Amino acid sequence: MALPTSPAWPIGGLDPVIEALQEEYLPQISDYDLGGLLCDTRLGRRAIVSSFGAESVVLLHYVSRLVPDIDVLFIDTHKHFRETLEYRDTVAQALNLNLVNVEPDKTELAKEDPYGSLFNIDVNMCCTLRKVFPLQDALRGYDSWVSGRKRFQASTRAAIPVLERDTDKIKINPLALWSKHDIDSYFFEHDLPRHPLEAKGYPSIGCQPCTRAVKPGEDVRAGRWAGTPDKTECGLHIGPDGNFARKKSKS
Ligand code: SF4
Repeated sequence: MALPTSPAWPIGGLDPVIEALQEEYLPQISDYDLGGLLCDTRLGRRAIVSSFGAESVVLLHYVSRLVPDIDVLFIDTHKHFRETLEYRDTVAQALNLNLVNVEPDKTELAKEDPYGSLFNIDVNMCCTLRKVFPLQDALRGYDSWVSGRKRFQASTRAAIPVLERDTDKIKINPLALWSKHDIDSYFFEHDLPRHPLEAKGYPSIGCQPCTRAVKPGEDVRAGRWAGTPDKTECGLHIGPDGNFARKKSKS
């Protein structure tokens, strides 16, 4: 079922679909039905977007048990750790996931990042080329998407809602309110495999050139873009106004 779209979505405006879902499944912070929400047909065609990072398998296990045929989009930037790619394949097989490998546009890469070193010059442009645009393209076939972001991960994520509008899609953050303890308990309870880099000091794992191990006492995401203090997110989560659009070059 296609969702009604609101082309002139106002920041802070009302969204009837989100309001109705919120009322039905998330009436209070202590009283919510994530299973009901994730199975509701008003979400239309949905996908999980996963980095197969340190905690990703929790979301993948949780959601794929509720919606077994859901597609799992992995943005293969061509800059991931070898361990992440191996872990992706192991988890996808173990959980019988519908894995969809999403890759950057070859022509755009050849033009904008011919040497594969753009991350040294402009991390925002590199993330746009290798993550944001490929995801935008991949999500065209979906009405809603599921993200694994959690409030405890960083101060910049402290107010993440469970349900939000993201351009013309609905975004669901089922684990937004989960604590680190909840995550660890879920790992233990379901005997889920850990990302091999976690034990080597990587609690948050992105592309290899932009991720380092963290030191004791550092923020969980301190190892992400550590050489670029102003950058804290890759740009995938652009918010309800959705004004981040690709300008196609003429040549
Ligand atoms: S995380 Fe680094 S290598 Fe990966 S897309 Fe962003 S800038 Fe490029």
